[in-house]
Amino acid sequence: MSQALPGDAPLIHDLIGIGFGPSNVAMAIALSEHNARVGRQEAVTAHFFERQPSFGWHRGMLIDDATMQVSFLKDLVTLRNPTSEFSFLCYLKSQGRLIDFVNHKNLFPLRVEFHDYFEWAAAKVDDMVSYGHEVVAVRPVVVDGVVQYVDVTARSGTELVVHRARNLVIGTGLRPQMPDGVERSDRIWHNSDLLARVDGLEDADPTRFIVVGAGQSAAENVAFLHRRFPKAEVCAVFSRYGYSPADDSSFANRIFDPEAVDEFFTAPEEIKRKLIGYHGNTNYSVVDIDLIDDLYRQEYQEKVLGTERLRFLKVSRLTDVVETPDKVRTTVESLVTGERTPLDADVVVYATGYRTADTLGLLGEVRQFCHRDDEGRVRVERDYRIATDPQLRCGIYLQGGTEHTHGITSSLLSNTAVRVGEILQSILDRGEGPAAAPQAAADEIGSSL
Ligand SMILES: Cc1cc2nc3c(=O)[nH]c(=O)nc-3n(C[C@H](O)[C@H](O)[C@H](O)COP(=O)(O)OP(=O)(O)OC[C@H]3O[C@@H](n4cnc5c(N)ncnc54)[C@H](O)[C@@H]3O)c2cc1C
Repeated sequence: MSQALPGDAPLIHDLIGIGFGPSNVAMAIALSEHNARVGRQEAVTAHFFERQPSFGWHRGMLIDDATMQVSFLKDLVTLRNPTSEFSFLCYLKSQGRLIDFVNHKNLFPLRVEFHDYFEWAAAKVDDMVSYGHEVVAVRPVVVDGVVQYVDVTARSGTELVVHRARNLVIGTGLRPQMPDGVERSDRIWHNSDLLARVDGLEDADPTRFIVVGAGQSAAENVAFLHRRFPKAEVCAVFSRYGYSPADDSSFANRIFDPEAVDEFFTAPEEIKRKLIGYHGNTNYSVVDIDLIDDLYRQEYQEKVLGTERLRFLKVSRLTDVVETPDKVRTTVESLVTGERTPLDADVVVYATGYRTADTLGLLGEVRQFCHRDDEGRVRVERDYRIATDPQLRCGIYLQGGTEHTHGITSSLLSNTAVRVGEILQSILDRGEGPAAAPQAAADEIGSSL
């Protein structure tokens, strides 16, 4: 049970999770399965804070025909517990679609469908989450000269709530990345804005879109805008010759295996870099081959018919992007000749990727206890726990932001089910869970650094 302390003292949990995306939903499920197995005394108590008003997974990119880039068997649970009631197959059964899905002979569900699965799973553990609560501060709580707890402050509207934890699991995900000096605005979007923004254009009769980038999101934006606005031209601008296919072949896929995390973790730094280099094309700046083929076919068909409105401006970059009240003025610069061509558009979409949220940024004074490597990156143990000074007794675990230590699955779904099992086991093994804080110690809480 979470402990309530006298007076205004915060609730104490064994674990507080920051963010309730797929990673921490999977964490909540692992906890609820564990707690259902063990007695009340051994139950691990937890609470999660999510800033969105309800569950949402990259809503701006839930394009109706976009599919998952990972097998449905790498759902929130199956690789950890194939008999779990939280699996994608159980979801399908609950929706009356199990047999239809089987007949479909497809490992890669629609993104919209997987979102619905995530929502379904999140709803089953929603007693553990406060939606509409953004974590704004984490503070150390000192008992007997050591940091025994952290206080987590979450803001909901104008209210602040504080809960206390023995462990933190940070699963705050990715942030949209714009090129240096470019700000998002009404006509300058990041692809993560796509679906939220696009409805606003229905009456505007747009005539041209520019999409910057050559990854999966860029290609999806090009295909979507081309289909949605049949009178508009869609110009893709990128520095390559064209989209490169994602390597999802069976041998290369082993880079996502749970075992690959062990290997990556123990590999020397130079080998780590090589592995990311060899297999970056399983994930970064690559596109599903079917989508590449579709786009090429459409471009060629338009050439034949003389109705060209899909244009690929290769080996180029977009510069001088200026928004005016009714358009965006830009220049396309050839990387080969330096030739500069003005190009106006109704909207420019930057599909220029995402970066990991600043995992340490939230930690405030707790940051001083966290170790860093020679390159200033956070040191993380194999169990995803940040390496810290001994006087910090709380476990601070990362879901995401560990590509330099744990490899390419860090920000992906592939290893989520296994990772949360490892984090839970670590909390139990390290004794930072339920048995860790005798009430006597808890009663002494009060001084903060
Ligand atoms: C369009 C798109 C498609 C993708 N498709 C795939 C795919 O098919 N396969 C795959 O393996 N990966 C895919 N990814 C990678 C993606 O990172 C993972 O799918 C997944 O989102 C990781 O889950 P997460 O919970 O770690 O992070 P997120 O899903 O980003 O969730 C983080 C959550 O934390 C919340 N949060 C952030 N800061 C705070 C705070 N201070 N307080 C409270 N809450 C906070 C956010 O609101 C968010 O809900 C895709 C990414 C994108 C952008």
